[in-house]
Amino acid sequence: MSLPSGLYDSHMHTPLCGHATGHPREYAQAALDAGLAGLCFTDHMPMPAWYDAPWRMRLDQLSEYVDTVREVQAEFAGRLDVRLGLEADFHPGTERFVERVLAAHDWDYVIGSVHYLGAWGFDNPEFLAEYDDRDLGQLYRHYAALVEGAARTGLFDAIGHLDLPKKFGHRAPDDSALLRVLDVVAGLGLALDFNTAGWRKPVAEAYPSPELTREATARGIPFVLGSDAHAPGEVGFRFGDALAQITEAGGRVVTFQGRQARG
Ligand SMILES: [Zn+2]
Ligand SMILES: [Zn+2]
Repeated sequence: MSLPSGLYDSHMHTPLCGHATGHPREYAQAALDAGLAGLCFTDHMPMPAWYDAPWRMRLDQLSEYVDTVREVQAEFAGRLDVRLGLEADFHPGTERFVERVLAAHDWDYVIGSVHYLGAWGFDNPEFLAEYDDRDLGQLYRHYAALVEGAARTGLFDAIGHLDLPKKFGHRAPDDSALLRVLDVVAGLGLALDFNTAGWRKPVAEAYPSPELTREATARGIPFVLGSDAHAPGEVGFRFGDALAQITEAGGRVVTFQGRQARG
């Protein structure tokens, strides 16, 4: 099945984060081969040195990241629209640092993601056993409160992988906590990262779920398509299925350029 024209993949990483492979040029070539109109690099942004350091570029690598993306942008000019973004983490106390990084360059798109509950990196397979000690209702309420905090900072364009704690199959007992997040996201005019990586994980479902896709759409929240590629072969991953899920819900897809949503 061929994809409609004009699509962007707006969530992907580069080897600077330490856990992705392939030169950014190869991601761009993969996007071109997949028939996409553009892409946006959103590598894991530098954070304060004490936070999750092995999983992201250092602050002193930020200009190398920007320069590399700019080079690829120039190389593919006229063939593929290459944009510059970041996947930022929201972790209470780091807002000032994040604000400075965001002010340092002209970003097209910034995703705000929650990857930690306190000191626990809950999406890391290494710490999977921790789920056994948690009440899932409480876990999702805690997570939702953090995501709401992320939305309220005003620092981000979209919320990353909305229902991420389901990654290994730990689904929420009900959607109430995340529905409240959607109310806030809608009120603030943010978008949602429609993240197809969930289809590569044990849960075998994109973020957000079909139900949350409908609930977001009912609130007027648009989606930004992203594969969360950590290798060139993942660019555009299952975008046909993503579009089917969004279309079925009656939702709309946007991309970001210069931090502005485009239809
Ligand atoms: Zn990553
Ligand atoms: Zn993420």
